[in-house]
Amino acid sequence: MVSSSGTSVAVPSPRPSTAERAAEGPAVRLNEVRKVYGDVVAVDRLSLEVVAGEFFTMLGPSGSGKTTTLRVIAGFELPDSGTVELHGSDVTRSPPYERPVNTVFQDYALFPHMNVLDNVAYGLRVKGIGKRERRQRASEALEMVRLPGVEGRRPIQLSGGQRQRVALARAIVNRPRVLLLDEPLGALDLKLRQAMQLELKSIQRELSERITFVYVTHDQDAALTMSDRIAVFSDGRLEQVGTPGEIYESPVNEFVAGFVGTSNLIQRDGRCYTVRPEKIRLLGEAEADSADAAGIVREVAYLGSVTRYVVELESGETLVVVRQNLDMSASSAMQQRGRRVRLAWREEDESELDINKQEERNP
Ligand code: ADP
Ligand code: MG
Repeated sequence: MVSSSGTSVAVPSPRPSTAERAAEGPAVRLNEVRKVYGDVVAVDRLSLEVVAGEFFTMLGPSGSGKTTTLRVIAGFELPDSGTVELHGSDVTRSPPYERPVNTVFQDYALFPHMNVLDNVAYGLRVKGIGKRERRQRASEALEMVRLPGVEGRRPIQLSGGQRQRVALARAIVNRPRVLLLDEPLGALDLKLRQAMQLELKSIQRELSERITFVYVTHDQDAALTMSDRIAVFSDGRLEQVGTPGEIYESPVNEFVAGFVGTSNLIQRDGRCYTVRPEKIRLLGEAEADSADAAGIVREVAYLGSVTRYVVELESGETLVVVRQNLDMSASSAMQQRGRRVRLAWREEDESELDINKQEERNP
């Protein structure tokens, strides 16, 4: 970049280099943010950092403070205490329009009387950008979300998935450094939602040089599918931050283990472990060699590609086992109910829970 001192003019680059971005610090840094509504602590001294260019997901149950955190980042809410930094600048007191962010909401609120192109270009019009550039940039944004050829249509003439893309185009047309997305796929049916998750991830990958994605959802599959890192929320606090693999394979406590996947808890020698259902082998009673535990199959749920078995162990614990139906038919799967079995799993597939984190949650 050209220096702003002397006679040369600084041209803000829409694509800062990797080195420039590293020097600016994280795309988002929350430091001890707290937000209270009446006697509800929505966000409780929350600190986190989002790396520039990553797909960062805030995952948690309803009411855990995700939307409030997003609104604090966007500037729609002022925290009661704590600070918000974007790319190294403290924006805690800045109004939303002065922050280099844009938000996509679930109900995407397109203007029904405007066509797609005008919807997408609306923010540029408000900023006073000329018609030719508006059209150019709106078309580019529509291409980025892979929605060319519908510029002239009204929102009502689009499918749910197409409308979602228009909302996305409308947000990225303003070239935000950080894009905030609050359950944007929540209104779509399952198939479309899964397809859109893959597409959103691939759009983000293409834009990652310029835009950091911060995504809010209560859907663990969405989080695992798209994220570079996931922050698991509960009661306005962070339980764990990590890659999908870290969160799934090494959950720090029972809450994370149960919210992201099925929590299979095993108590042993005063310690607590989890083991994921697909890591457990279901063996006949006679195949006792390497088995860790004996029990009885209490429930069988045939799910097409896999079957889920609920096994009550002699030790009193209940474990869920998931098995691919490689050569298991529905009827033979169902016949497992009531059978005596043995369960085996590898020690490295056990993950120890942090007892201290456990007690913090359940004092
Ligand atoms: P999430 O997005 O994870 O579902 P929210 O951030 O929306 O959670 O809400 C966190 C908590 O704060 C909830 O208990 C919610 O009822 C409360 N809350 C959120 N916004 C408001 C508000 N404007 N007024 C009062 N309470 C609110
Ligand atoms: Mg919410």
